[in-house]
Amino acid sequence: MIAASPRLLSGWSAAGPIQLSAHLREHGPLPLSGLDTAAGGRRWIAEVAASGLRGRGGAGFPTGRKLQAVVGEHRRPVVVANGCEGDPGSSKDAALLAVAPHLVLDGLIATAVATRASRVVLCTHDRAPGLRSVRAALSQRRDPLRIELAGLPPRYVASAESSLVNFLNTGRAVPTSGGTRAYERGVDGRPTLVCNVETFAHLALLSRHGGRWFRERGTADSPGTTLVTVSGAVAAAGVYETDFGTTIGDLAALAGGPTGPIRAVLVGGYAGSWLPATIAECLPFTHADLGAAGASLGIAALDFLPVERSGLRTTARMLRYLADESAGQCGPCRFGLPAIADDFARLTRGVPAAHTPLHRRLQTLTRRGACAHPDGAVRLAASALSTFADEIPATHSARGDAVGRARVPNGGRR
Ligand code: SF4
Repeated sequence: MIAASPRLLSGWSAAGPIQLSAHLREHGPLPLSGLDTAAGGRRWIAEVAASGLRGRGGAGFPTGRKLQAVVGEHRRPVVVANGCEGDPGSSKDAALLAVAPHLVLDGLIATAVATRASRVVLCTHDRAPGLRSVRAALSQRRDPLRIELAGLPPRYVASAESSLVNFLNTGRAVPTSGGTRAYERGVDGRPTLVCNVETFAHLALLSRHGGRWFRERGTADSPGTTLVTVSGAVAAAGVYETDFGTTIGDLAALAGGPTGPIRAVLVGGYAGSWLPATIAECLPFTHADLGAAGASLGIAALDFLPVERSGLRTTARMLRYLADESAGQCGPCRFGLPAIADDFARLTRGVPAAHTPLHRRLQTLTRRGACAHPDGAVRLAASALSTFADEIPATHSARGDAVGRARVPNGGRR
């Protein structure tokens, strides 16, 4: 892992996780004085809102607004850190927990004190490599609140917010429907704040340095630095920390540069979007710029596809994975995702007749699941049809159809 002017990864060494003494030398103590009063908590939340920090788990929701939604005079929320990272395209959360667990724990503690939380939980997959670092870090600390650790099964949908809440309430790590949002009624029936572990690490630094410092890096729309998982045809795939606003081409250079000509870039993981390399290369890595290009930042993952690889075949494998990983509770996941994966497989075998039913399914599946899992698969499939239109074994009219109508709206990942 290499970091350019890092904040989260400063002090990182290849020797292993940063120890508490080194963490304190690098960042100083966590200032908690006055944070446990109603006025102190409100001030802290206002500072977070002013910083412009957005969640790092996929949806990019403003963290200040999430905090405001769970606090109140007679409310004792539950605070949950999501380090489950179910997407195979992402390893940033595992890397962060493995090398800088104290920053994540600091952010959890500051948040819990400022919101007067009744319970604090850090969730990871039960076989996550960072779990050992977190356990070791917890044993070195004397925190004012106990942080529980919860290990969820390593499934894709287990990392959805409602899966975490469901798991902590019932032991079942699958998404739930029903319209009640976690911030209203979540774990133990309490308002529940669920944020990505990287978000908590930024909160740890914000607590020390304030919102103005946070905004010194990045852009107005996407302030601060971000961890990015870079994979595919680059010389040094890995997790990098960079300022928002860095172009995707410069991110490839940070990862050692492309190993050859690049055809397309998958932005945002398995629920993300393909962009042609010619468009992606100069695109600043921000919420606004990616949104304007028809993609979304998602889990901050970039996968560089070389020209010699088939985009349709690569996407067909990913769609099969997403179909297999669904919880199988709702129609779109039980029937729709396997059908889309089948259609794609037929397209890769040169069957033009697969195109028409595939197009119909992509139109009808959007926003039909109890969670956003099918939407992610639809977004991936639609972007592949558009970006890899030259691979589609179609008549002229079918190919035009793919280019003209395949784009679907982007949205929060899960
Ligand atoms: S849409 Fe799919 S993943 Fe989401 S709750 Fe329904 S079956 Fe589960």
